[in-house]
Amino acid sequence: MGKVFGIDLGTTYSCIAYIDASGKPVVLKNAEGDLTTPSVVYFESGTEVSVGSAAKESAKMYPEQVVSFIKRSIGQPGVSQNINGVDMKPEEISSYILKKVVQDGEDSLRMEGKLDDDEHIKDVVITCPAYFGVAERDATKAAGTIAGLNVLAIINEPTAAAITYGVTDDSSSKTVLVYDLGGGTFDITMININPGEIRVICTGGNHELGGKDWDDRILMYLVDQYQNETGTPDNILDDAETFQELLLASERAKKLLSAKEKAPVAVNYMGERVRVELTRSKFDELTDDLLSSTIELTRDMFKEAEKKGFSQNDVSEILLVGGSSKMPQVMKRVKEEFGIETKMFDPDEAVAKGAAIYADKMSEYNIVLEEIAKNQGKSVEEVKEQVDSGKMDVEKEAKKANIKMRGGRLPGDDVKIINVSSRSFGTEAYDESDSLKLFNIILRNAELPAEGTSCFNPRQNNQKSAKFTVKESLTSEEIVDPELGKEIGTAELIFPSGITVDTEIEVTFRLDESGLLHLHAKENKGGREVDAEFQTTEALSEQEMTDAIRRSSSSSVN
Ligand code: ADP
Ligand code: MG
Repeated sequence: MGKVFGIDLGTTYSCIAYIDASGKPVVLKNAEGDLTTPSVVYFESGTEVSVGSAAKESAKMYPEQVVSFIKRSIGQPGVSQNINGVDMKPEEISSYILKKVVQDGEDSLRMEGKLDDDEHIKDVVITCPAYFGVAERDATKAAGTIAGLNVLAIINEPTAAAITYGVTDDSSSKTVLVYDLGGGTFDITMININPGEIRVICTGGNHELGGKDWDDRILMYLVDQYQNETGTPDNILDDAETFQELLLASERAKKLLSAKEKAPVAVNYMGERVRVELTRSKFDELTDDLLSSTIELTRDMFKEAEKKGFSQNDVSEILLVGGSSKMPQVMKRVKEEFGIETKMFDPDEAVAKGAAIYADKMSEYNIVLEEIAKNQGKSVEEVKEQVDSGKMDVEKEAKKANIKMRGGRLPGDDVKIINVSSRSFGTEAYDESDSLKLFNIILRNAELPAEGTSCFNPRQNNQKSAKFTVKESLTSEEIVDPELGKEIGTAELIFPSGITVDTEIEVTFRLDESGLLHLHAKENKGGREVDAEFQTTEALSEQEMTDAIRRSSSSSVN
């Protein structure tokens, strides 16, 4: 069959899409009949796992067996959760979300007669936020592997959304802004699209701001209303069941307000019930500052982009994606603030569909390569090598051999996708007033591969060595408080004897596309040097991977 799929593995909701027979991207429904599935996992027992709405409901009764927001921890060093006596890394927990959307996707295709009983969804492209570093990307891929999938690629969510909007289709070059307000994160990305190239210019946002915060505002309002009405001195949220129920009710009310002016909510506590009628204008008032902070973060990103020679005026359109951009307040405010054409189109599905388009073009491209290889009696690897080294033009070769290419340009291989560093990297040193600072050598949003050099001096004459404490941070300034950075490693440069304070120590950092940070330091007196490499990844060990796959393949997901 050769079908390939795109999966949007979201913080709060996930979604799977493929390209149907007519060439259109289509999202597959889950067993509940919904297009998106809550990224919530309920570990009923060692082998029974449930994912989605049912898991979300179960949080009321079994909060310690239900995991939400796992994407926030994926690829973070040292994170694991003990569930039913088993230590699980975020990769493994995420794999269940993938299994659920894949399994339901298969069922839905089977029901339509589009998949045979012995066929399975195997080849997928999974999306991740543009700010994800290598560790997070590798972990996302590992989640796919644990789920038994063949991960063709991990691509950026805003890039996927841009592909769906068709912005890669016309030949002009333009700059778009993808405003993605999801359930637990707000990501803002400036993308420059040129023929043959999708370039991320700048990313910003807040990874702890999303629809969930809008829900919480409703929740607090409901609690206030209940307390005013009943005069109870209790904090009704101390009751876990009331709390979980109100959380769900708040999200429901929020969604209703996207379509209607009013939403009725009942608050039940200790047998007493209070009805609250929430209006859209009250809701907008309760959440105005949250919306304002997305605007501020967008302005911050514009400031960053200016350093790279791009400004707000370069942006020809703003694309609203993410479920939370369905709140009418979002479109209204974004338009007012920036005066740039703002479009909302498929906010729940654009990312998964873009991943499916990308996967399809990638697999089509691979099929074409296979055909060419067959025709020329070469191996696919040989053909790939010739293409990579520029010795072969795939489109020309395909034409010659009469191989049809549906897609035209291929975002998979011949469109270069350029990324930026999601963090700043620096080393600790003392400033002129002798206080310890973090001196950033590569700044956030620098285009990859990135390189930077700074000069330092020894603190004292006859110093024996210099130690470099290398830290990553989310700051954009060159010299910052060391507390803002997270240590990723150290290196030491041993001095020759008789070093003086006027010796220059030149420190160069190079960050490659795979996220590996190289340090090179050299002093100009004796010419001594030191090299070090820091892998910013914290991958699963082979054993951990094997265990996770074993557990995953022996449990049933529903
Ligand atoms: P993520 O990618 O972070 O998982 P999504 O883009 O899927 O998030 O968006 C999920 C968020 O969108 C949730 O907070 C959900 O409540 C919210 N949402 C979904 N539909 C609506 C709607 N009609 N109105 C308002 N918010 C919505
Ligand atoms: Mg999303």
